[in-house]
Amino acid sequence: MSSEKHADRHVHASDAYLALQRAREKWEPACAGDSRFTDDDADRSELYEICATKCRIRTQCNAYAERARPPAGIWAGHFYTPLEPRDETA
Ligand code: SF4
Repeated sequence: MSSEKHADRHVHASDAYLALQRAREKWEPACAGDSRFTDDDADRSELYEICATKCRIRTQCNAYAERARPPAGIWAGHFYTPLEPRDETA
């Protein structure tokens, strides 16, 4: 990736992060305090369902993850890993 593209992605990720933080100030994420979201053995389809149906900030969560491409974790019901692109099968 060129440094120009990297910088552009960074700016957009920063904007998306701020939007996510603002949303978190208004609504509690559905994953807050839910240990299934940090359990490697959790049922992925169940977590996807929670994100899709119970979280009021999913749009902002997804927008941030799409731009920042986090190296790991569950974001808007999608699973990110360090070595692979987003897992679309959840
Ligand atoms: S959409 Fe994001 S903030 Fe909401 S429950 Fe899922 S992972 Fe948490």
